[in-house]
Amino acid sequence: MQGISCCSDNIYSAAPSYNGQSRVAAVHFVVDHGRVAIIDTGSNTSVPNILSALACLNVAPETVEWVIPTHLHLDHAGGVGSLMCALPCAHVVTHPSTVSHIAHPARREEKHIGSFGQGQSSLLPEHLVPLDEHRIIPSRDGMELPLGERVLKILDVPGYARHHIAVWDESAKAIFAGDAFGISYRELDVGKRSFIFPATSPAQFDPVAMIESIARMAAHGPQAMYLAHYGKVTGIERLANDLFRLIHAQIAIAQAARGSGLARHTEILFSLEELVREESARQQWALDEEASLDLLRPDLCFNAQGLGIWLNRLLGQHAIAEMATEEKTGQAEAVAA
Ligand SMILES: [Zn+2]
Repeated sequence: MQGISCCSDNIYSAAPSYNGQSRVAAVHFVVDHGRVAIIDTGSNTSVPNILSALACLNVAPETVEWVIPTHLHLDHAGGVGSLMCALPCAHVVTHPSTVSHIAHPARREEKHIGSFGQGQSSLLPEHLVPLDEHRIIPSRDGMELPLGERVLKILDVPGYARHHIAVWDESAKAIFAGDAFGISYRELDVGKRSFIFPATSPAQFDPVAMIESIARMAAHGPQAMYLAHYGKVTGIERLANDLFRLIHAQIAIAQAARGSGLARHTEILFSLEELVREESARQQWALDEEASLDLLRPDLCFNAQGLGIWLNRLLGQHAIAEMATEEKTGQAEAVAA
């Protein structure tokens, strides 16, 4: 089937390409008795790809009931507004804190242009399209969405982003995890064993919440996870343990880094590369060490940036706590005097 792959019974994925690169960010489709849910939309350039995927599935745009961006990043939710123009019966289900951003995306667009520069991002080649708030339903943890004869359940899974949600499909025993269950690279599969790497990219990485969310997803007993980057992984218990180990390793790397700014970023990045070298030996990848590093390097750069922001946040909280302690001590001394 061109433009769409079948992942398992009633679950499909499409891979819009960015700058000629495919398998960057997956869009997943669940089809049940002619009703459709779309999980993540890619950027607004991915919309024609999604519509041709629906045509491949022989389902009309009117049969799409739910569009569920797992979080607000442009590779997951950039296309929501323009896609919804083509899906007259669908509702968007999204974390409550993102509703106004999806309805009125101008500020989100400005922020992205501020970070990357006008016309510099493959994820924002065109303006984001606003969406009538009546078509947006704020999600709740545990919310159940009927789809044909199955039910999709929304899970709050903060840690990568505070507003990240995932979708538990009880019938398929599968979770659509966005970026909350790490990143996996098909090039590093060894037979059926996949490798997984936690994403700590900017700007809301919270290791405690991330570990709790991974444990919570794994506790549902999924037979498969569908990741936005990229695709279906199985052997969830082993992967969850690998994620825990690699989150702790990345925290240790960040905390050991000295200095600030670019010097600290470079040190974190260097240590992350060392971590990948160790994994290369541990996992026995078919790609050699340098080729593996080339594959992972863009994500390692993002992870290093996110770890730096997390460290700054910790330092900020530490400074605020110290100021509060000093203030309390001063007040106590004043009272004693
Ligand atoms: Zn992503």
